[in-house]
Amino acid sequence: MAQDMRTILQESKVDRAAVDRYAAGAQKIVGEHRVSARQADLLSASRDYWPVNSIWMREGVFPALPQLVVWPESTAEVSELLALANREKIPVTPYGEGSGALGGVIPLKGGITIDLKRMNKIRALDEKNLLVTVESGLNGALYEEKLNRAGYTGGHFPQSLRCSTVGGWLSCRAAGQFSTRYGKIEDMAVCLEAVLPDGTVFSGRSVPRTATGPRADHLLLGSEGTLGIITSATLRIWPLPEKRHLATYTFERLEEGLEAIRLFMRAGTRPAVVRLYDGQETGNHFPELGDKRCALILLIEGNTRIVDAEAQVIEDCVRLKGAESAGAEYVEHWLEKRFDVSVASILFQKGAVLDTIEVTTNWHNAHSTYLAMQEALLGVEGTMLASGHYSHVYPEGAALYVTAVGFPGEDKIGYYKKLWQAAMPACHQKGAAFSHHHGVGLHRGLWMADEHGPGLDVLKKIKTALDPQGIMNPGKLGLEEVRTWRK
Ligand SMILES: Cc1cc2nc3c(=O)[nH]c(=O)nc-3n(C[C@H](O)[C@H](O)[C@H](O)COP(=O)(O)OP(=O)(O)OC[C@H]3O[C@@H](n4cnc5c(N)ncnc54)[C@H](O)[C@@H]3O)c2cc1C
Repeated sequence: MAQDMRTILQESKVDRAAVDRYAAGAQKIVGEHRVSARQADLLSASRDYWPVNSIWMREGVFPALPQLVVWPESTAEVSELLALANREKIPVTPYGEGSGALGGVIPLKGGITIDLKRMNKIRALDEKNLLVTVESGLNGALYEEKLNRAGYTGGHFPQSLRCSTVGGWLSCRAAGQFSTRYGKIEDMAVCLEAVLPDGTVFSGRSVPRTATGPRADHLLLGSEGTLGIITSATLRIWPLPEKRHLATYTFERLEEGLEAIRLFMRAGTRPAVVRLYDGQETGNHFPELGDKRCALILLIEGNTRIVDAEAQVIEDCVRLKGAESAGAEYVEHWLEKRFDVSVASILFQKGAVLDTIEVTTNWHNAHSTYLAMQEALLGVEGTMLASGHYSHVYPEGAALYVTAVGFPGEDKIGYYKKLWQAAMPACHQKGAAFSHHHGVGLHRGLWMADEHGPGLDVLKKIKTALDPQGIMNPGKLGLEEVRTWRK
């Protein structure tokens, strides 16, 4: 039985009688075949892509298990399921595709996992207003494919496109690889439809903007399942681009590349893809370029005349900073490989521990944060590599994505904790923000007080007001202490 499997983070469970009552009620709402307590279903819903889960899985243990998995197909069903859980005080964990990187779907207190994958319809495609209304459980790659067939793009390409859902993106404030042109998910989200723990369904208006007070629906953006369930969203879309321009430049030093990006963003260009790699990552991704220079890859797309003009402005800016042109083939190579993360699994199998930590910098601390985090990570015994790149750039700064790989021997979890204990203060001391797009989940919750200060109490008050019974995804976003997972 799944219930007998060894779990490491299970804080508590709901008593059997209450779960049975809930199962009977849920079967009335969604039908028998969409409620399960089968071992395979409980195990599948117990974890995400947090590297710690991979370590535990290789050791044959699990973080925590839900006691029931339910698959609703409509907003009305989600509403009834939540209202029932609220009455019975049963914890609820929303589940998209489990691609989260920080343990966000681990059901620390057992209870019900609500898997949204069957809520996967495009409700409306509004070509005149360039809007699409989509249910939250739709897989990312299918979402983009459906739009492409109609001549549009959603403009959102996280590396996890093929294993994540629209609702997961909204819940985690995700960012895609083409974000400099199309924006992050919150820039695309015109309005959301959501269900609160008491079953209340509400939605925002699909108009370009409102000034009628704070947006209640936008509160759910980044709430990671702690306030309610997002059931659908109206998102911006774009006609498929007329032209794509690809370019690669290399710089002797990382700082020169950063300065070049700052200049072309300041000039008003908005290339879709901007990725600047340090020497190590340049050598790893593009061996022909070696590891002595730093590669900047660019993809500009849209209207032909605008693309041509942007390419020219960018060329002028990068030349001012000593760039050498390296040709389009490196961007083509990146486009081919951009969803391939197989090297991580290979390294895990060889006994490595690795993680990626993405933080947000301004231009004044973009380089110093990289140096500080790299030094901190390399200072942890066992670390073999700490490299980085910048992407998701803005006129005011850039996301910095640091990768650490180590071979720590026996105590892999202890080593993992040390990595973060070194990297987070280094990021904080340089004034960078703790996350750019992976979100908080369970693990980053340990640093939420440092990130938000008194703002964390504001978030806690909102949580208490909307979820007074505390049933929604307990222990996440740093909104409460988690006994089983500490620094
Ligand atoms: C290889 C890899 C690459 C990645 N690349 C990127 C990237 O480029 N950009 C990026 O932003 N992220 C990236 N991520 C992180 C992850 O894919 C995103 O956070 C994604 O948005 C999660 O979507 P999901 O559907 O898998 O959500 P899940 O992992 O299932 O859930 C994530 C959180 O959202 C909550 N949730 C899910 N659906 C709902 C809903 N409908 N309503 C309320 N709460 C909900 C869950 O309870 C959980 O707390 C990557 C992850 C991996 C493993």
